[in-house]
Amino acid sequence: MTFTIGPECIDRTDQSCLDACPVDCIYIGERKLYIQHDECIDCGACETECPHQAIRRSEDLDDPRLIEFFDDEKRFFSKTLPGRTEPLGSPGCATDVGPTGVDTDLVSSHPERNPE
Ligand code: SF4
Repeated sequence: MTFTIGPECIDRTDQSCLDACPVDCIYIGERKLYIQHDECIDCGACETECPHQAIRRSEDLDDPRLIEFFDDEKRFFSKTLPGRTEPLGSPGCATDVGPTGVDTDLVSSHPERNPE
């Protein structure tokens, strides 16, 4: 069981969930944040911090679009991202990794969000 970040996060710059996570398992892409599911301890602290309601418990997903983003979040860590030589895997500390500057194909191809 894990929490997951959905498409509402794309092109948002809030990032308040990063400070809420006690195990530092939320990684920074170019346009979206990604939870490393194997590192998440399922505490729920990030869910309440997100002002865009982008974070959900994975077991509660019932919308195919959200399930697609859940699977995509796995790919962020399991596939080799553009400009990298190997998958991120489970680094164990998002702060040490820092902003990756890349996204999955699904997120990269997502239409730009209009400024709010
Ligand atoms: Fe981090 Fe807890 Fe959110 Fe998992 S549920 S990403 S451990 S804050």
